[in-house]
Amino acid sequence: IDFGFAEVPLEEKVKKVKGVFDSVAGNYDIMNDVMSMGIHRVWKRKTIELSGVRPGNTVLDLAGGTGDLTKAFAKRVGKDGKVVLADINESMVRVGRDRLINEGIVGNVDYTITNAEALGFPDNTFDVATIAFGLRNVTNKDKALEELYRVLKPGGQLMVLEFSKVTQPMLAKLYDFYSFNILPKMGKFIADDEASYQYLAESIRMHPDQETLKQMMLDAGFDKAEYINMSEGIVALHRSWKF
Ligand code: SAM
Repeated sequence: IDFGFAEVPLEEKVKKVKGVFDSVAGNYDIMNDVMSMGIHRVWKRKTIELSGVRPGNTVLDLAGGTGDLTKAFAKRVGKDGKVVLADINESMVRVGRDRLINEGIVGNVDYTITNAEALGFPDNTFDVATIAFGLRNVTNKDKALEELYRVLKPGGQLMVLEFSKVTQPMLAKLYDFYSFNILPKMGKFIADDEASYQYLAESIRMHPDQETLKQMMLDAGFDKAEYINMSEGIVALHRSWKF
């Protein structure tokens, strides 16, 4: 495991996010399944399908956490390709690395501790980069998007999978109730950690909506950007390209 990349600036939010993911790492996978009723697997599968990743590609799974996308990409790129799981949180990366090794995913995956705002990779390195449920935790999102643009090869694609703005008013009300009333209680019951799941609900509410994020991607330098809503906008998959 390579812990040698960029130094992590210890700002307030960074400390808070570190605390949250240190705390949830051990229960992260089960909580994901319970909280989303397994639907996060569908959102991720769609992301993989649309990625167009092929054998021999080099892929960055930024904020890769416990490695769901990394695992699927590693199978796709094959032995001549490479997937880099990069995440700021050592606890999450350790859980992810152990899990993937146990599942026999070895040889074409690198693990690195790095901050999305200062990626320790050369320009024009990756064919595809993803950041799934990670961008909302990053303090300086514009900087992270600029970094993602820099490390993509010309012709490369960025995919941002993230909670977004629910498009259906009735569902939006229900979802709000679920996020702020039920979710933290589930966090307490299953993982004995109410605060982290309260943070999750707050961070979802604060995150830029579909059109705002699309514009941020263009402002960061991307030449084309688009998005699709999934589950009525509970989640949006943003895609952008560097020409
Ligand atoms: N991508 C995985 C998935 O979809 O299951 C993990 C998502 S998890 C909700 C968010 C991840 O973002 C955590 O592992 C956290 O450590 C990481 N993260 C938060 N801030 C980051 C930053 N500034 N740079 C890199 N990773 C970050």
